[in-house]
Amino acid sequence: MQYLGAHISIAGGIQNSLDRALKLECTAMQIFLKQPRKLFDREIPHKNIDEWEEKSSKIKTIPIDAILAHTGYLVNLAVPDDDKWENYISAMVDEMSRADSLGILNIVLHPGSPHNRNEKWGIKRIASAIDKIYSEYKFNVNIALETTAGTGSHLGWKFEHLHDIISQSKYSEKLTVVFDTCHTFAAGYDFTTPEKYKNVWQQFDKIIGLKKLVGIHLNDSKHPLNSHKDRHEHIGKGYLGIEPFRLIMQDSRFVDIPKVIETPKDDDWDSKNLKILRELASKK
Ligand SMILES: [Zn+2]
Ligand SMILES: [Zn+2]
Repeated sequence: MQYLGAHISIAGGIQNSLDRALKLECTAMQIFLKQPRKLFDREIPHKNIDEWEEKSSKIKTIPIDAILAHTGYLVNLAVPDDDKWENYISAMVDEMSRADSLGILNIVLHPGSPHNRNEKWGIKRIASAIDKIYSEYKFNVNIALETTAGTGSHLGWKFEHLHDIISQSKYSEKLTVVFDTCHTFAAGYDFTTPEKYKNVWQQFDKIIGLKKLVGIHLNDSKHPLNSHKDRHEHIGKGYLGIEPFRLIMQDSRFVDIPKVIETPKDDDWDSKNLKILRELASKK
């Protein structure tokens, strides 16, 4: 099955996201597990978890392995300050408990920013945060490191960063990767023609390994190649244009990889963007 969907709102309770996804004819989706601008939030009520279980087991068109969770924006496992680092680790533990309670297999994380420290230090810091978490808790959920645009000192914009975090962790089997088209393009990887597309995925496979890929975020970019700016645009309306999305939608390697849009939410743009992507899947 072609896994395609959107980042879906959990307003009114996490279980409601499934109904919204169905309405958009999604076969994949991504959700936050709490309010994304808060580090901590009230627990998910048991009633909502029960409803989630009941609904998700009924909905055959959105299998549980096609559902990604995304952490809140504030978690930074690379932060130099020790107290903050411990606090972000607690927030991450909270997010991962939520994911486990819903049966979600991968939670997407932006690797983080070490502020004034260097890349090497930051990568080590992230790997040791991950090791601390998995050594203290037996989580089922994997952490899916997302490719980033590399704004400021944020890590994850080079495939090597993700490789190094994974290889430095004792729990590398628990670490997976999500490829964000907007971020990766803004980071300097050009995949806008068939030739360049082939090349970028070859690099990805060589450095990270395609078997680590558990999700693709389909977003066009408001800013050009190498801009290191993270601003998502509607599919085909930005600097990426339509071609790289056609290439992804027709790539047989990615059919059962969950692909979700995180494009601007105004009006019924989710359904428009998804329609474009579905058409691209069969376009000659
Ligand atoms: Zn993200
Ligand atoms: Zn993304």
